[in-house]
Amino acid sequence: MEIIRNGSQPSSLGPEENFTGHVRRDPLFQNPAPSRMVGGLATFDAGARTVWHTHPVGQILIVTAGFGRVQTWGGPVREVGPGDIVWFSPGEKHWHGASPKCGMSHIALVESEDGKTTDWMEPVSDEEFMGTRAEN
Ligand code: MN
Repeated sequence: MEIIRNGSQPSSLGPEENFTGHVRRDPLFQNPAPSRMVGGLATFDAGARTVWHTHPVGQILIVTAGFGRVQTWGGPVREVGPGDIVWFSPGEKHWHGASPKCGMSHIALVESEDGKTTDWMEPVSDEEFMGTRAEN
């Protein structure tokens, strides 16, 4: 058994090449092999979001606070809040982030493939982020 103590893992700022706006990342765990599971908490300021990306083995988001947005390539912008759980399939191009006026936090769970969890792509434009088909 291992207990990872609160406060033992430093926060970091999401790098500009992978995130638009201010995003704080707090690592939760990275299990040793044979597990491939990695967990982290991301906290997006209002307007902040990831760039478009895919995960080779998919991803689960558990929204814990605030109000945010998610979108898959070719689909509408969807709004999500605390308690919502979002599954992205392996290779499904998508982004996730805050809403324009309210921040959002989620726990992200991914499994790595050949040591990689994410393939990062182009930024989400302001037009894409604002979407014209948001549900609220
Ligand atoms: Mn993702």
